[in-house]
Amino acid sequence: FTVIACLIGAITLALAIQYARRSKMPAYDIERAIVAGEMKPYYQPVINLRTGRLTGCEVLIRWVKRNGEVIPPGAFIDYAEMTNLAIPMTLNLMEQVRDDLEGICREVRDFKVSINLFEGHFRDGSIVDDIQSIFEGSGISYEQLVFEITERRPLDDRAAVNRIVSAMHALGVRVAMDDVGTGHSNLAYLHTLGIDIIKIDKIFVDMIKDANVPVPVIDGLVSMARDMGIEIIAEGVETQDQALYLRSKNVTLAQGYLFSPPLKLDSFLTLANALKPQ
Ligand code: C2E
Ligand code: CA
Ligand code: CA
Ligand code: CA
Repeated sequence: FTVIACLIGAITLALAIQYARRSKMPAYDIERAIVAGEMKPYYQPVINLRTGRLTGCEVLIRWVKRNGEVIPPGAFIDYAEMTNLAIPMTLNLMEQVRDDLEGICREVRDFKVSINLFEGHFRDGSIVDDIQSIFEGSGISYEQLVFEITERRPLDDRAAVNRIVSAMHALGVRVAMDDVGTGHSNLAYLHTLGIDIIKIDKIFVDMIKDANVPVPVIDGLVSMARDMGIEIIAEGVETQDQALYLRSKNVTLAQGYLFSPPLKLDSFLTLANALKPQ
């Protein structure tokens, strides 16, 4: 057994090294970037389509190099995951988010902060304790936190996911399923898991070309989610027609370039101040 474990370890390491060579991104680069505070949270506003006001934000990681270059997550998160840096990277990010957003969360009590998790968090049982140790007693209450899990990849261990979602609910935080429609689970399953929110993926929002032309897939998703009491957020909203269509289907929460790209903290807080609920 030990021999097999060693063998698997060696193969994983070999693959990681090969991957690192190919992508020219050694593990220590990411590790060093985390320690040096170069992994930064950017914030994309979530907008209420009825009022035009801000209801919260999604945290999206960026690698901001010392020379000012900003690297998007697509270039490094798979690699962080392969090298077991995804969890420490996320915990470091959550600490920054807490410090960045305590002020606005104290001021605007129903401001929601959404944080993306990796699949690994559901294998590692400590995520709920980690959330607690980072946010307990902070200016951000559990009710203001949402954790997003993606359905782009299958969740192998459904029992573990179930257990963690329950523990999150016991704490008071909510859980969103990201990229809904692209992946592996149907809404009935999400409902049994206890998912609170679904995020309708951009590929569906992109199907809306004209505010007056129905898109049956979206209508179906929306009505099913509504029947199950699941909240809906539309992502990747880029045009006025998309916003109008969604609003006409009573989807009230949306994010996208129509409103704002992800912003660094100071720009986000300026926008948040202008758009906070009155
Ligand atoms: P996601 O969670 O689905 O995030 C939405 C992505 O779409 C973000 O890309 C965002 O910048 C982009 N986006 C938002 N509005 C629009 C729009 O109107 N048009 C277009 N074309 N794009 C829009 P980003 O920031 O590059 O992140 C890519 C993915 O990386 C995320 O997809 C998420 O899966 C992952 N990711 C980002 N940050 C984190 C993180 O802190 N932890 C984890 N686990 N994953 C993260
Ligand atoms: Ca997300
Ligand atoms: Ca998403
Ligand atoms: Ca997406």
